[in-house]
Amino acid sequence: MSTVTAYAATSATEPLTKTTVTRRDVGPHDVRFDIHFAGICHSDIHTVKAEWGQPNYPVVPGHEIAGVVTEVGSDVTAYKVGDRVGVGCFVDSCRECDNCKAGLQQYCTGTGMVGTYNAVGRDGEPTYGGYSGEIVVDENYVLRIPEGIGLDAAAPLLCAGITLYSPLRHWNAGPGKKVAVIGLGGLGHMGVKLAHAMGAEVTVLSQSLKKMEDGLRLGADAYYATSDPATFKKLAGHFDLILNTVSANLDMGKYLGLLAVDGTLVELGIPEKPMAVPVFPLAGGRRSLSGSMIGGIPETQEMLDFCAEHGVAPEIEVIEPDYINEAYERVLASDVRYRFVIDTASLREA
Ligand code: NAP
Ligand code: ZN
Ligand code: ZN
Repeated sequence: MSTVTAYAATSATEPLTKTTVTRRDVGPHDVRFDIHFAGICHSDIHTVKAEWGQPNYPVVPGHEIAGVVTEVGSDVTAYKVGDRVGVGCFVDSCRECDNCKAGLQQYCTGTGMVGTYNAVGRDGEPTYGGYSGEIVVDENYVLRIPEGIGLDAAAPLLCAGITLYSPLRHWNAGPGKKVAVIGLGGLGHMGVKLAHAMGAEVTVLSQSLKKMEDGLRLGADAYYATSDPATFKKLAGHFDLILNTVSANLDMGKYLGLLAVDGTLVELGIPEKPMAVPVFPLAGGRRSLSGSMIGGIPETQEMLDFCAEHGVAPEIEVIEPDYINEAYERVLASDVRYRFVIDTASLREA
């Protein structure tokens, strides 16, 4: 086992603090890598604040992880020392159920996916995430970061990127499709960039117009404030696909009314509390309400390669680890343009 420096939450209310955690020795199929950058996802905040149930403290969050391989196990064939790699939201799954076999590990029905943090690994030990200096992960759950994407920009692709890429592909976003993205945060801004790169017509639905200039620069064709009731009149029945990335509850009836007949609203944001769904706007338009969770390993690799090919990368603000708690406050205040990424160099030296 090795000891690494990390930032951990020890309760729902205390700030994250510097600590150490252990990483297992590299097994035959494992890859050890130095973490260079770790993104801050709103899910990290939901988890440490116990909004999704009581976590197992200490929690070392971070599931948008990018770095460089330092050691590989004897049977590892896919990676070698020096490779640029990443890890997203899970580090294992049963590998035997139909979903795992189909590359949809995020929907594993065997053991369920093993989260990158706040879970228990195959070895019975708790998993600790990317706010740390290094990590050991089975090679089957490691992604290759293409040349041309910086490690800092690559990190948020491992969760925010794939979470938007997967539903855009599943619901065939492309030329002729009208797509709306609700919420221009970490997930939302990736949705705008990816939908635009796929050739869809993209509209941002944000609380206000204060980020409008950014939204249009990122690739949006239109931008509306949801605080303005006129938005819901003007856009009624307009969209084929709406991706909701908001971390809080919304008035679902209003947004369902923006879908065309047979349109789909996909829930990506996962707020703490259940949301009420009025049925009239759903039935009166044969509309669908769905959800989607990250993406499997093959699709995550496909997304990374797509981003490299199309020059798609997140807009990031790189921070030092001692800024994590302030960054959390800013995410909660929707004051992020558009993803905080922790430079973990100081955690590797410690
Ligand atoms: P984020 O950066 O905080 O973005 C969320 C955006 O939602 C904000 O920027 C804001 O956009 C809007 N928003 C926030 N509070 C709102 C409110 N009360 N009413 C209306 N709009 C509000 O968060 P994120 O990292 O993108 O994550 C978003 C959600 O997705 C979280 O719940 C997270 O846990 C979840 N998530 C799900 C998956 C999945 O696989 N399904 C993966 C990752 C994350 P505007 O300022 O533009 O209004
Ligand atoms: Zn995430
Ligand atoms: Zn499985």
